[in-house]
Amino acid sequence: MRIHLSRPHMSGHEEARVAEAFASNFVAPIGPQLDAFEAAVAAYLGGSVHCVALSSGSAALHLALRIAGVGPGDEVWVSSMTFAGGVFPVTYLGATPRFFDLSPDSWTIDTACLAKELAKAAKEGRLPKAIVPTDLYGQSVDLDALEALARHHGVRLVVDSAESLGAVFRNGRKAGTGGDAAILSFNGNKIITSSGGGMLVTRHESWAEEARFLASQARDPAPHYAHSTFGYNYRLSNICAAIGLGQMEVLESRVARRRAIFARYKSALARPGLAFMPEPSGQRATRWLTTLTIDTGQTGTSREDIRRMLLDHQIEARPLWKPMHMQPLYAGAPYHGAGVDERLFAHGLCLPSGSDMTEAQQDEVIARIETLLDARRPPPIFRAFHRPKRASDRAGAMGKV
Ligand SMILES: *Cc1c(COP(=O)(O)O)cnc(C)c1O
Repeated sequence: MRIHLSRPHMSGHEEARVAEAFASNFVAPIGPQLDAFEAAVAAYLGGSVHCVALSSGSAALHLALRIAGVGPGDEVWVSSMTFAGGVFPVTYLGATPRFFDLSPDSWTIDTACLAKELAKAAKEGRLPKAIVPTDLYGQSVDLDALEALARHHGVRLVVDSAESLGAVFRNGRKAGTGGDAAILSFNGNKIITSSGGGMLVTRHESWAEEARFLASQARDPAPHYAHSTFGYNYRLSNICAAIGLGQMEVLESRVARRRAIFARYKSALARPGLAFMPEPSGQRATRWLTTLTIDTGQTGTSREDIRRMLLDHQIEARPLWKPMHMQPLYAGAPYHGAGVDERLFAHGLCLPSGSDMTEAQQDEVIARIETLLDARRPPPIFRAFHRPKRASDRAGAMGKV
């Protein structure tokens, strides 16, 4: 049986919610399950936010950026190491992305680098319309630093929290509550799923109203169809919302399970040359996916050796996201950083992390990796002489756990 990276994991509560939706014939993108799903997410996030359920996380980002006023000729500054759906909406709007590197201490956007570039851009009168940092693999960005920067420069902040529902930033503040708006995804591979869906979360009531308007084809109040602007068909189906509602009941236990999977990998694979994604103190990552880097000098093996060996045994593992500034689509786009993300991509691996994975399955993944590492272990004399060349390597992707 194949071991997957991250599969949908139903709780058993979803079918009853879907049956309720059918019984009342609310099978369109409107209905009590949709309202209840939005209310459940808002309550989970702490209550002081407005939630709009949408057909995908990408749709949520598209709407958030449009509401932020992003249009042709504008710049949007984004984390480079992210999924395409976290950048494409910039392109939908005719704007241009400017890419930023990660900090090796958190694997989220390097706020010092961002601060420096914002100050420079402010002086030169070319500030971006919005900033979109990504909560990577279940880890919240530094909301305090980013909100202070956005406020200082009068720039809109939209946080891509598609991978981090269930994470805690600091002092109980949840990921997904940041900036002018945050976006969530309920795609099938995320920590919980509505079979496909997304959400725009915002503290501005006016943004939520506008998102609802734009997501249902921008219909002006009139008995006929009247449009003063163009919209989209982006609302979530009430049926999908019913699934999401059932999943919200088990979100906390899913976080606990993913964290337990991470802890097990980390203790079983505690060896020189393997470094797991760090977790800044005071924060709680969801560990949506367990991610680590493999130092070839120290282990005698590479990310690709491990990934291909696992695949031969029907075990799905994946390289970390390829940074968007390295994608052909965005060749030549401006990029700021020291290449931390490039090294994470070169050496980083996501291990199977689904909350429905059994301990026996995880043991198999661990045993297969251990066998390969033991076989490839370089002799001690070689290990002693092989050192990372650059200081940034030592501090970042390669060395620190
Ligand atoms: C999944 C994801 C998205 C997009 O969500 P969809 O629901 O698949 O459109 C955006 N950004 C990041 C970082 C993601 O992981």
